[in-house]
Amino acid sequence: MLIVMKQDATQADIDRVNEVIAELGFQSHPMPGAARVAIGITGNKGAVDRAHFENLSGVADAIRVTKPYKLISRTLSPDKSIIKVGDATIGGDELTMIAGPCAVETPEQVFEVAEVVSKSGARFFRGGAYKPRTSPYAFQGRGEDGLKLLAEVRDQFGLNIVTEAMDERGVDLVEKYGDCIQIGARNMQNFSLLKYVGKTRKPVLLKRGMSATLDEFLLAAEYIMAEGNHDVILCERGIRTFGNHARNTLDLSVIPAVQKMTHLPIIVDPSHATGKNYLVNPMAKASVAAGADGLMIEVHPCPEDALCDGAQALLPEQYIELTAQLRLMRELTIPVRETASI
Ligand code: PEP
Ligand code: MN
Repeated sequence: MLIVMKQDATQADIDRVNEVIAELGFQSHPMPGAARVAIGITGNKGAVDRAHFENLSGVADAIRVTKPYKLISRTLSPDKSIIKVGDATIGGDELTMIAGPCAVETPEQVFEVAEVVSKSGARFFRGGAYKPRTSPYAFQGRGEDGLKLLAEVRDQFGLNIVTEAMDERGVDLVEKYGDCIQIGARNMQNFSLLKYVGKTRKPVLLKRGMSATLDEFLLAAEYIMAEGNHDVILCERGIRTFGNHARNTLDLSVIPAVQKMTHLPIIVDPSHATGKNYLVNPMAKASVAAGADGLMIEVHPCPEDALCDGAQALLPEQYIELTAQLRLMRELTIPVRETASI
């Protein structure tokens, strides 16, 4: 159920609705919008009787939500969410660029890339300290030492840090050193981890699982939000298909589909989606044309020596050139800002 408050509802009216929700044994999720507050209700097993709310002061409407997702829905929050991450935002008019190496390797490598990313005007730096690798013998990441290097990047360059956590301990550490907790494709349906990050107050970048449908992707976001953390940024990173010319198949149609159904921002990672350097530039541009809120791009000063994902890394000069092209495109592109609700 969704309680829509009147425009002139007072804080006392909102508090009373929250109290009634608590008395019923459910959880309330107030979502302030530009014009009015909406309050989502979760925790109910069946339909909630509208009569509990209809006559309360300040209540405009009590709407039954029949879709499996509630908090991500545009019904609850018709305005697009702009998520604060560190000292910057994601989801506004500016195209978000999150760039950096696949993995934190050495201080020299990290600082060299950070300088390039900072010069390009990006506000976000990526780099994995915990790497989900297919082989247990492959480089697994520098762990907490890597996170410390990322924190130094923030101090030195003012870049906000987006980095992956693979388990609860990792979440605690990323909360301490980073600005945004990345949940990788392989953990998109790790429900206990989703609940755990839902209890933190750091924004979460949720990557689409490589075989996840749109519903599964959105319900994973719903898991995080249901725990109280509404600062979720979605990331399309390609899905598995029969195609074998690229590492994955970039599903660009998911961008307008997500924007139609949810108020959450969606960015695209063309690096993992393609796995190949020469495909990153055109797919990044296609993502902007399709209305993505931003991009996550892997950059390495010497891709042939990279400990992880060298084949898809852009060289610093390629990244700088791409950023300039994307900025021009962003100005020309009318972002897809569907206001349809479900
Ligand atoms: C990453 O961004 O470092 C990563 C491992 O991506 P994904 O989870 O999309 O494979
Ligand atoms: Mn990578």
